[in-house]
Amino acid sequence: MDKIRIAVIGAGVVGLSTAICIAESIPGCSVTVIAEKFSPHTTSDVAAGILSPHFSPETPVDRQKRWFEDTFAHIFSIAQSAEAPVIGVQFLSGWEIFKEPPKERIPFWADSVLAFRIMNDSDLKRFPQVTFGWTYTTLLCECTYYLPWLEKRLKNAGGQLQAGKITDFWELDGKYDIIVNCSGIGARALTGDMKIYPVRGQIFKVHAPWLKHFVRLGNENTYIYPGISSVTLGGTRQKDDWQMSVDPCDSKAIFEACCAYEPSLKLARTLFEGVGLRPTRAVLRLEKEKLERDGRLMQLVHNYGHGGAGVSFHWGTAKEAAQLVQECAMELRCRPIHNKCKL
Ligand SMILES: Cc1cc2nc3c(=O)[nH]c(=O)nc-3n(C[C@H](O)[C@H](O)[C@H](O)COP(=O)(O)OP(=O)(O)OC[C@H]3O[C@@H](n4cnc5c(N)ncnc54)[C@H](O)[C@@H]3O)c2cc1C
Repeated sequence: MDKIRIAVIGAGVVGLSTAICIAESIPGCSVTVIAEKFSPHTTSDVAAGILSPHFSPETPVDRQKRWFEDTFAHIFSIAQSAEAPVIGVQFLSGWEIFKEPPKERIPFWADSVLAFRIMNDSDLKRFPQVTFGWTYTTLLCECTYYLPWLEKRLKNAGGQLQAGKITDFWELDGKYDIIVNCSGIGARALTGDMKIYPVRGQIFKVHAPWLKHFVRLGNENTYIYPGISSVTLGGTRQKDDWQMSVDPCDSKAIFEACCAYEPSLKLARTLFEGVGLRPTRAVLRLEKEKLERDGRLMQLVHNYGHGGAGVSFHWGTAKEAAQLVQECAMELRCRPIHNKCKL
């Protein structure tokens, strides 16, 4: 029987991880990633990359927990390997602090990270501006390192990468048997799904190698995440804002907010400033869809809408998307492939 031809649209952290999970788990298929932009030009490249699942309350907690724990386990095993710094992965400890205590004093992911505890009075001396906090150890996965490694891993599994913008899924009709849509914010134009919208995030990367712990203002936008060769300072959360250029007013506000919690940042040298659009949707879309046109059917699997948690959830959602592709492939194997007749 011919190979089942699978196209994955998108080469961010979601598309590449999904393509790998498909290529490594489904025998007898070919996988091609088609994307307008590759690393270092995706939204994923702008992400700080902290594994911390602050997502939508509308997505069932058990699904969020499973996606996070699958991702944590995958990145944890990389962190334990000799290649970890080359892949952009490291353990990171720090403080998530709140001016007012949050409604849920213990988040659902408290037992999914390491060494989680509520900060005591002695811990809080470090941050006189706040009244409450959590301290824990999690993982940082920097996509500017991680995505090129995923690309290599995909090629080793027989996958291919192809540059190109898809404006209509039917452009792929006849060339592929299953289409997997991991187009991030691009899904809005590609699918016409108006439930997905951008939440603009602006960040700095600075040289401050003396910083070793993360600081994150819970329920606010300010964060400081030390990475392998730079520290990410953020940020903004601007709903429905498509502006991709750096805004100097945002830069000033971000820098001042971060310096309020870590004054030594005044000595840091700026390496990069950037903007990304978080592909935000009340409920992440992870499901199969069949399209029909002129009596022809197209098998689609959607995996988009990860908002501000795409790095935190990517491996878990990739595994689930690969399972849906497997179901589509089984259906195709029982029926004529290459879309000659109705499925
Ligand atoms: C400032 C900022 C900080 C963040 N920090 C974190 C963090 O610390 N932790 C965390 O978990 N998450 C974080 N996020 C969120 C995270 O970056 C996103 O959830 C994640 O990158 C989404 O990945 P993606 O692969 O879906 O999208 P993207 O990375 O945007 O990839 C989409 C891909 O689809 C392609 N594409 C789109 N449309 C088309 C088309 N029509 N044809 C062909 N190709 C197409 C694009 O070219 C690209 O290759 C942050 C985001 C921002 C902006």
